Amino acid sequence: MNAESFTGSESYLRRAHQVIPRGVNSSRRSVLRPAPLAFSGARGSRITDIDGNEYVDYVAGYGPMLLGHQPPEVVEAVRTQLAAGVLYGGQHEAEAELAERIVRMVPGAERVLLNVTGSEAVQAALRIARAATGRRKTVKFEGHYHGWIDPMTANGPGSPAGTGPAPRPMIAADHDVVGPEILVCPWNDSEALAGLLARHGADVAAVIMEPVAVNGGNLWADDGYLATARRLCERHGCLLVFDEVVTGFRLAPGGAQQRTGVTPDLTVLAKALGSGFPISAVAGRAEVMRVAEHTVGHAGTYNGNAVSVVAANATLDVLETGQDSLYPRLDRLTGELADGIARLAARHGAPLQALRAGALLRLHWGAPEPLRTYADTLAGRTAPLRDFSEHMVRNGVHARETGLWYVSTAHTDDDVDRTLAAVDRALAAISGPSA
Ligand code: PMP
Repeated sequence: MNAESFTGSESYLRRAHQVIPRGVNSSRRSVLRPAPLAFSGARGSRITDIDGNEYVDYVAGYGPMLLGHQPPEVVEAVRTQLAAGVLYGGQHEAEAELAERIVRMVPGAERVLLNVTGSEAVQAALRIARAATGRRKTVKFEGHYHGWIDPMTANGPGSPAGTGPAPRPMIAADHDVVGPEILVCPWNDSEALAGLLARHGADVAAVIMEPVAVNGGNLWADDGYLATARRLCERHGCLLVFDEVVTGFRLAPGGAQQRTGVTPDLTVLAKALGSGFPISAVAGRAEVMRVAEHTVGHAGTYNGNAVSVVAANATLDVLETGQDSLYPRLDRLTGELADGIARLAARHGAPLQALRAGALLRLHWGAPEPLRTYADTLAGRTAPLRDFSEHMVRNGVHARETGLWYVSTAHTDDDVDRTLAAVDRALAAISGPSA
């Protein structure tokens, strides 16, 4: 299943570049090697580019395709809905059905509001937190990604928590849009959070985190860290916000909060919720969400669009009814991939680690072992990982250069075998023949 030629993707990019900056519509897509791929179709665990190369897909639309491409239940629900209408500018019955499902599945959800993208739902959550507390500031963590709204681009690794210079933006954005309201804290460091809240707690509306730091390297919190964060928020009267855009429905039916047993005040959901149809949600405690009824403006032309909502209902129906078999299977397949990668890395003498969290893998090259902090992840080397991902693509596996892999319920044992054979060939190509 080698990918032989990329000339179609390359010439598409040249054409697109005449009229689209970088030739892509989300900047990271321009960096994939050997070429930013243009696709013609996808089904199940496989995706096909316009040169006719077929890949086992671990990009999964950047995460939403937890059920694989074109899950029949979702396709059927959408097809039926298309015949009835797309956007009403008013209510329809599937909206409350979806909110009821989310309340049933996600521990911290008692009330739910819909948006379209994860970034927007983060903005809604922070707005609700400010209104509920009457405070202005937000604490976020180094390496955690919460979308591309300006204030949330703050990152600032290395800056002393909340005391240093303006945090450095995480994705390309102007420094001054981050603003003084965002305090950046090291992750997995209870003392740093306690210190930061001791200084600023009275002004802090929300402490927002990825409960498993997926974008910060796929780092689980140390034992007790999330519970400590929960307690510190209570002590200082701030709201704990879990950004479960990636982990929601993926780590467990109720996301990371179900898996870790720590319940936030507000939760942001997106990606796997809609199986690729754009939809996001902010969910939370009734008492907190009540402010949205009175004081918080919440808007969006496409909020609750019927196609995305029925896609989400069909997705959650599959996950809820099939949970007893689907999640153990996702864990098994992801574990086999992680173990296989570790075995092959050892055989090739390659400093490659695969960190797991539910149906997610994050590869690191040359990082310290065990890998615990965001600083550890930054010590990893990106150039060999880019080379590795290029060879994976050449060997028929669509994998991002960041090393973040999404496993889906459509992946099979055969896919795992093909993937590990490709890993073997990729490692041989970049680290020389195996001993
Ligand atoms: N939060 C997290 C944890 C994410 O990973 C992302 C997207 N990768 C977002 C928020 C933003 O979501 P969207 O791209 O839908 O705006």
